[in-house]
Amino acid sequence: ETAIPESHPRHESLLARHRIEDGVEKGITSRQGLIAQGRGEAYDYLLGERTIESADAAARAAAAQFLLADHPVISVNGNVAALCPDAVVDLAQATDADIEVNLFNRTEERMAAIAEHLREHGASEVLGLAADAQIPGLDHARATVDADGIHAADVVLVPLEDGDRAAALDAMGKTEIVIDLNPLSRSPQVADVPIVDNLVRALPLIAEYARELRDDSREELETVVEEFDREAALDAAERTIRSSTTD
Ligand code: ATP
Ligand code: MG
Repeated sequence: ETAIPESHPRHESLLARHRIEDGVEKGITSRQGLIAQGRGEAYDYLLGERTIESADAAARAAAAQFLLADHPVISVNGNVAALCPDAVVDLAQATDADIEVNLFNRTEERMAAIAEHLREHGASEVLGLAADAQIPGLDHARATVDADGIHAADVVLVPLEDGDRAAALDAMGKTEIVIDLNPLSRSPQVADVPIVDNLVRALPLIAEYARELRDDSREELETVVEEFDREAALDAAERTIRSSTTD
């Protein structure tokens, strides 16, 4: 691995690029994932590479949703697995959520490589390989999920989800939490809780809030959910990007 001095002003961003490159080399991340990363970086640059206030509120609402859920599932793709496997495993522990590998360009090799990678990072169980259920309204390859995973989930966290699939999951009546740096993308637009932030920052933040809220009553958690305004959060993110100033 190339050494990047921590003093480098783009240290975090360069590190992320290396992780994605590594992911491609290990067969975890698709080459399309490189493009997604570049797109994300551009938005992150405009956000000031920080968690804006509205994204912080969204992460808190997401944590409350996780704690209220009967069956929360964290969906993991090749970019997520390459960038922050430890944060995925930690969030699953903090919220009692299942982890499911779910790929836009599904190949059995990549499914297995990602599951193995997550287990190496401490995941006890990784779903997605059973592939015994379908999300209605999508073609077969894109629709495939686990019956006891995403298909049965009441709350799903889908970082970097494709717009069509985000809409199809929403149509199934699931509470959907999306992490995406582009507030104009369809996935955050259909999410119950859109978190416009880098998943590298957002995943640990949700886990932190989950631990903070863990002993709250259902009523208190429901208040956190109700106080979050998804439209306002999307607007605030878009305004921040368009003005590229501090919020
Ligand atoms: P659209 O939603 O605009 O129709 P798309 O979702 O098909 O297009 P992609 O380029 O595949 O387009 O989407 C990748 C998405 O993932 C982008 O919206 C990008 O901002 C987001 N993204 C990439 N890396 C990260 C990251 N580390 N954290 C959060 N979001 C990210
Ligand atoms: Mg999108």
